[in-house]
Amino acid sequence: MRLKTKHIFILFLSVLLVVSALSIPQTDASAATTKYKVVNTNSLNMRTGPGVQYKIVKKLKKNTTVTKTSTKGKWFKIKTGSTVGYVNSSYLSKVVLKVSNTNSTIGKYYSITAASLNVRKTSAATSTKLAVVKFGKQFVIKGQAKNGWYKIEYAKGKTGYVSNHYGITSVSKNNVYPKGTIFGPLSGRTFVIDPGHGGSQAGAQYFGVKEKDLNLKASKTLQKELISQGAKVVMTRSTDKTLSLDARVKISKAAKPDAYISVHHNVVVKKGEAGYLALYTKKSEKTFNKYIFNSLKSSVTKATKVPAEEYRYQNLHVLRENPYIGTLIEYGYMSRASELKKINTNAYREAMAKGIANGLESYFDKY
Ligand SMILES: [Zn+2]
Repeated sequence: MRLKTKHIFILFLSVLLVVSALSIPQTDASAATTKYKVVNTNSLNMRTGPGVQYKIVKKLKKNTTVTKTSTKGKWFKIKTGSTVGYVNSSYLSKVVLKVSNTNSTIGKYYSITAASLNVRKTSAATSTKLAVVKFGKQFVIKGQAKNGWYKIEYAKGKTGYVSNHYGITSVSKNNVYPKGTIFGPLSGRTFVIDPGHGGSQAGAQYFGVKEKDLNLKASKTLQKELISQGAKVVMTRSTDKTLSLDARVKISKAAKPDAYISVHHNVVVKKGEAGYLALYTKKSEKTFNKYIFNSLKSSVTKATKVPAEEYRYQNLHVLRENPYIGTLIEYGYMSRASELKKINTNAYREAMAKGIANGLESYFDKY
């Protein structure tokens, strides 16, 4: 080899090194007849031997499919049509045979409509949970399992499977959610708010104030707050009407809510009773009530000086007969003039609503 040629050759090799760093094909001898495709160049020289010093037998165009028969260093002995020769493997990339999947959902978008959806390692509900994706998140569908589950990239470089029943599949990711959808921490959730008493049943009455009216006012403030955080709210009553306990349960059953919230105001029975409390009946409601009460304690107490009493068990029809978890919140004591003055204000009702909403958010984040 003449010196000049050698120089060019070395220069050529260093260019190749850079190119090959971008796309190094597999060179395992076992895959003797693997198919490759010409990439990175519009014209690839096919030579009589494994080196640039060999004669060119053919020029291969980009995307030509070739079959590798053997390997010699960086050079592949290939066959294309009836021609056999050598090419520099840096310009080839392995043809990956697509896993047979005739489903056309790949490449489309999947927009989550459930409040939260588990991402799993494989396409089974029993598979390891990798992450949770929330309402409003949109993903490109990377693949689809036999049972319909989608493969998505839930975080950069991380993929997993989600059920295909809790979202919308669409070609474009625009205008997927209904107009007016609020994206908040409670989006995708439904709550039933039940203002206690009403109509012919006034509930407690002190200092010219009726409990049914306070309950409705407080419930409407809570309704507004939950809606602003994305939730769907079903009210058992929005006016001053009489409703039986069974009718309230019936409404809740029909709504299939994430939780049922009954709103009441209290009457002092024992000396020392003061402030708000949360009541539960079913065993399954205990933790839920703990979350609601603790959230109220941390946000409401500071803001209003109304004390936090407790969360405790009480056998209540509307909770016992209700298949969904719930709470009955006593906003405070009407029978004590000083306390009624504090709790019958918009500021208090708003602080309570925020406390309940935050409690719902943290509970459902965990359960
Ligand atoms: Zn009541």
